[in-house]
Amino acid sequence: MSSPQTLTVVIAAYNEDAALPVFHPRLLQVLDGLDLSARVLYVDDGSRDDTWTLLEAFAAADPRVGLIRLARNFGKELALTAGLDHVDTDAAVVLDADGQDPPELIPALVAKWREGHDVVYGTRTRRDGESWFKRFTAAGFYRVMAWLSRTDIPRDTGDFRLMSRPVLDALRGLRERQRFMKGLFTWVGFRQVAFPYERAPRLAGRTTFNYWKLWNLALEGITSFSTVPLRLATYIGVFTALAAFGWGVWIIIRTLVWDDPVQGWPSLMTVVLFLGGLQLVALGIIGEYLGRLYMEAKQRPLYLVRDVRPFAAAPAGGPSGPKLFGGELRA
Ligand code: UDP
Ligand code: MG
Repeated sequence: MSSPQTLTVVIAAYNEDAALPVFHPRLLQVLDGLDLSARVLYVDDGSRDDTWTLLEAFAAADPRVGLIRLARNFGKELALTAGLDHVDTDAAVVLDADGQDPPELIPALVAKWREGHDVVYGTRTRRDGESWFKRFTAAGFYRVMAWLSRTDIPRDTGDFRLMSRPVLDALRGLRERQRFMKGLFTWVGFRQVAFPYERAPRLAGRTTFNYWKLWNLALEGITSFSTVPLRLATYIGVFTALAAFGWGVWIIIRTLVWDDPVQGWPSLMTVVLFLGGLQLVALGIIGEYLGRLYMEAKQRPLYLVRDVRPFAAAPAGGPSGPKLFGGELRA
């Protein structure tokens, strides 16, 4: 295959019935203008509103639309995994269903891909509709990640990106349950290039990512890509032990030389509580990793598919011919 020809746009949607009627026609218009055979794969992540009904209507109206419906809400990371697992084209673009990643940029991503890049990831130059607090915490997170991990996750980068076939194949090999997609996308390597864009506000509806979810996503990112916190616990332990030893020697000398009587309930309490706290923190860190190991060890499928609407039309000139959803239904 000399020139790239086929593309799938993968979109995870969870309760997006307000945004989809605006978003979908916009996307189709972009696909019409592309000089390659493109299709859309929507993954309904267990929506409770009319998202699935809408998506079925989209699929009925256009043979380029394929659908996957997950058995329940698995979260965006797993919904994207489900979608990417079912891509059999030369490349895939990941978009948000709420219009925050403008579909109009797809031609530009494709152009970069044709220049020979395997991953073209969008970096946000502006974050409209996001509070200073979110921007501040996001910046902090990237800094901590850069410090803790050898996988350099690009700043201000979301899931919006184009990936070539080799990258998609590599991603399929990563079946870990604790999925931090941005990290995995970066971890695989290949020729990656940034693509600056302005992230638009949501078309409609509300974000489901509150601060608690973002915090947990951050923990996921840190524990999936770094064991530095564990080592930190060791160093803090060693440091505390050394300090305690020095202090102990000082107390003995003081008692022997100045014949100091026993005293200091306050200092004793402080030390006991401080050490107790340190130990609990260290245990907590170990617990975070142990818990993830436990979840990993269960070997449950990453996601469950409830319903599939394959593409009515095969991508013209695709490498895989008229096959619908190449490969088996993986989980
Ligand atoms: N999403 C999903 N499953 C979820 C939550 C979100 O598939 O459990 C989808 C959602 O429909 C949207 C994308 O992930 O297409 C990004 O979600 P959202 O806009 O809520 O996040 P934000 O843009 O604020 O990061
Ligand atoms: Mg959004």
